[in-house]
Amino acid sequence: RAKEDGRDRFCFFEPAMDARMKERHRLERDLRRALADGQFLLNHQPIVAVASGALVGFEALLRWRHPERGMVSPADFIPMAEETGLIVPIGRWVLERACEDAARWGNGLKVAVNVSPKQLADRDFPLAVERALSLSGLAPNLLELEITENALMADVEGAMSMMLRLKSLGCCIAMDDFGTGYSSLGYLRTFPFDKVKIDRSFVQDLASARESGAIVRAVTGLCGSLGITSTAEGVETKEQLALLQAEGCDQAQGYLFGRPAPVEDLPALFARFGLRQGSPPLLPSEDS
Ligand code: C2E
Ligand code: MG
Ligand code: MG
Ligand code: MG
Repeated sequence: RAKEDGRDRFCFFEPAMDARMKERHRLERDLRRALADGQFLLNHQPIVAVASGALVGFEALLRWRHPERGMVSPADFIPMAEETGLIVPIGRWVLERACEDAARWGNGLKVAVNVSPKQLADRDFPLAVERALSLSGLAPNLLELEITENALMADVEGAMSMMLRLKSLGCCIAMDDFGTGYSSLGYLRTFPFDKVKIDRSFVQDLASARESGAIVRAVTGLCGSLGITSTAEGVETKEQLALLQAEGCDQAQGYLFGRPAPVEDLPALFARFGLRQGSPPLLPSEDS
């Protein structure tokens, strides 16, 4: 009977698993070609200073324009790029492109680049950063590297020496998705972060859940005392913005200010903020 059950299960699941495996393999094969075929692009999303409303910079977000599938979300290919190690060359491309874009804006705005755990563990990563900076001519303090807790967990000492090397290049380092991991506070004590990005999940129910408000208040307060810039992610409503303002949060990012947009759309966005491409910001940025 048990044998029969086993066989039944085998027969039942096999086609579905097989289809999923094939699908994965297709996606992986396509991902291997995507870089050489120029299928990646960056979208930039504005980050603003909460107190003044000034534009302070952008986060560069990777997009894959697949020839048949259309736009593939990073959630659907970054994990695979991580597993296969393809994130290392892809990440180098992102760095170079983002620095080039920001240098071309030439208006003192920062650009934030997401760095995955595999990249942070790569000994040559600082060389890739140096290369992106020197190729573009971007001032190092205008480049911000966003890392998540899981990039620090596996090898705390390795991550620490990597972070120090990156900081010695003059870049800023942000902790992304703050509050979603196991030990966000512990890492804040151990590592020299310049910025904390409070995860969208806390901002989402800021107006409805007392707990989220209390957490945001505590984190912005803590950042203030530690000299770390606080940034709220996923700000979608004016009500959320008003609450963040009341809590003393430094910066905000979200659909309220703008969705991630292709680089061609940025001049219009600069104009909306009273900036032009190629000229310095009218208002001093919060952190530099
Ligand atoms: P993340 O770094 O936390 O980026 C913020 C994500 O939130 C982006 O999703 C952005 O489009 C989205 N977002 C921004 N404002 C709002 C809002 O007001 N409401 C909502 N609902 N969402 C908002 P996206 O672009 O799909 O990227 C997802 C994740 O993929 C990123 O999360 C990051 O972890 C990863 N990623 C993106 N680009 C890269 C990259 O170049 N390299 C690496 N390693 N990871 C990347
Ligand atoms: Mg990010
Ligand atoms: Mg984030
Ligand atoms: Mg996130």
